[in-house]
Amino acid sequence: MSTADASRVRVVGGGPAGAAAALAALAEGARVTIEEKSVFPRHKVCGEFLSPEIAPILDELGLGGLLAASHAARITRAALHIGGREKRFRLPETAYGLSRSSLDRLLFEAAQRRGAAPNAPRARLGAPGAAAPEPDFGRCSAVVIARGRRAGSGAGARSGTRIFGFKAHHVGAAARASDDAVELYFFEGGYCGVSPIENGAINVCGLAPEALLRARGFRPDALFPPALVSRLRGLERSFDWLLTGPLDLHGGLHARSDAYLAGDALSFVDPFTGSGILAALLTGRLAGRAAARRLSHDRYHAECRRVLRRQRDVAALLRDMLRARLSASLVRWIPGRLLYQLTRPAC
Ligand SMILES: Cc1cc2nc3c(=O)[nH]c(=O)nc-3n(C[C@H](O)[C@H](O)[C@H](O)COP(=O)(O)OP(=O)(O)OC[C@H]3O[C@@H](n4cnc5c(N)ncnc54)[C@H](O)[C@@H]3O)c2cc1C
Repeated sequence: MSTADASRVRVVGGGPAGAAAALAALAEGARVTIEEKSVFPRHKVCGEFLSPEIAPILDELGLGGLLAASHAARITRAALHIGGREKRFRLPETAYGLSRSSLDRLLFEAAQRRGAAPNAPRARLGAPGAAAPEPDFGRCSAVVIARGRRAGSGAGARSGTRIFGFKAHHVGAAARASDDAVELYFFEGGYCGVSPIENGAINVCGLAPEALLRARGFRPDALFPPALVSRLRGLERSFDWLLTGPLDLHGGLHARSDAYLAGDALSFVDPFTGSGILAALLTGRLAGRAAARRLSHDRYHAECRRVLRRQRDVAALLRDMLRARLSASLVRWIPGRLLYQLTRPAC
């Protein structure tokens, strides 16, 4: 029996990174448990923009038909609205829009179908609260931690600058009118994305300082600039605004000597890059393989640093430019496609 045959992998967290880790470890012949504290499907605050590089990764994980079968929206154009300026460009490749309630459920179901054993009291789909039998795997020697981002730092709380994320789906005839573009609207202290998802709906999702949200009764739309208000005219919100936070936009790239970190648990990158799910699938796949093959934790985390370095550096630079109110120059001088490409992880 090979080492991989004998290996047991425990994945903590069943989001995109955890599901990708489970699928990759299963493909290596490992026996896998996956622990997820939520019951799917569930909403999650996210722009739900799927970067084009996700399609080949899903193919490799054996989920090639997932985007078409779930009627993910196809996104071919982007528009940035910053400080009264507008920049429009075509994306180098087709991106996708799919709600996290669908994506995460489909990925988690696929991992279970392939043989990942749910190992948490509420992990079985559609059976809230039902206890899943404890798999008899003994002590797992390889652990993938994919339980999402850490809570934001306390420093922001003291200075009143904590950042929160928000989202709500919208429907209506106007949603279908421009269903192939992702649009980003920047405003004082925050920004908001408008992006198509499946079934003709659009997702409105962004970030704003807690203090401003609090002053407007936690109604994000009260902060929107006129161009965004006019963009959303004629649309109806499908559910109450969901909020999450505080977000730590300045966190580092983490590492452990006893586990393989993947996805946001490894590194949370500014959401305006629209590449967090891509990074989660990439590092989840790497982590699942590394865990099944018992690669050293150091070697695995070094490979992740290589994959994520450019994306993290460019995102930090852009955030500093936005803070320094250099956004207008950003829009004027940097080609949109270049901006977009620089914020992708190295696949
Ligand atoms: C406002 C906002 C907008 C964003 N927009 C986009 C976008 O448009 N496109 C994009 O690509 N990315 C976007 N992102 C980033 C993206 O959401 C994340 O990068 C992605 O969700 C990371 O996936 P993950 O699997 O690492 O973590 P998660 O998706 O957070 O999954 C972690 C899972 O672990 C579970 N869990 C947590 N703790 C435990 C535990 N102890 N035991 C068991 N289970 C546990 C959780 O329930 C969760 O299901 C956005 C993020 C924010 C905040």
